[in-house]
Amino acid sequence: MRLMLLGPPGVGKGTQAKLLAEVYGVPHISTGDLLRQEVREGTELGRRAKEYMDRGALVPDDLILAMFESRLDREDTRPGFIADGFPRTIPQAEAFDQMLARRGLKLDAVVTVEAPVEELVRRSAGRRVCRHCGASFNVHYQPPKVEGVCDVCGGPLDRRDDDREETVRRRQEVYRAETAPLIAHYEKQGLVRRVDGSQPVEAVLAAIKRAIAR
Ligand code: AMP
Repeated sequence: MRLMLLGPPGVGKGTQAKLLAEVYGVPHISTGDLLRQEVREGTELGRRAKEYMDRGALVPDDLILAMFESRLDREDTRPGFIADGFPRTIPQAEAFDQMLARRGLKLDAVVTVEAPVEELVRRSAGRRVCRHCGASFNVHYQPPKVEGVCDVCGGPLDRRDDDREETVRRRQEVYRAETAPLIAHYEKQGLVRRVDGSQPVEAVLAAIKRAIAR
């Protein structure tokens, strides 16, 4: 199963991508998670990417493409992958199409998940991420068992630097301008399946599974 999830920041792509990865037994590849790991490890890529991430801007395509391609070439992606947060611009989508074609691979579907902007801002404000392992929670929808403590590794939970309200609104604008045009790009390939992301987590997951099976 080779799936791509497309949708605005805060819509729950990461949550759905993790669940879908379990359902289909394939890795979840989130470029945002990969970048945050680089930032935590203090690598050169992490240092360069953080400047953009903190402003709610996109990290330059060349950095993202190199990072994604090396992840795609790991052995565990043989049965497929769930791409989350990549591609995010038309040049990334075109490069991704070529990357897949060179390997003789095809996407099964591009699932677009949407919700009203005010709901997205509320969700982003509630998001908490583990400082040590990167696991994600939401104080409104998926609270950790103990407030401020990661269920997975016991690490402390932080707000993401880019989840401040003004940065969230900026990221929404960047999505509309740079990423939403990808829907038309993939519609031409007949791959787009639209799902309403304003429902509870389990209902969104069920809708995505139905949309893929169609
Ligand atoms: P996310 O966790 O997907 O919301 O990504 C967090 C931030 O990482 C974004 O706001 C961007 O700054 C950066 N980022 C993640 N994926 C990409 C991408 N495919 N292209 C450019 N920047 C990205």
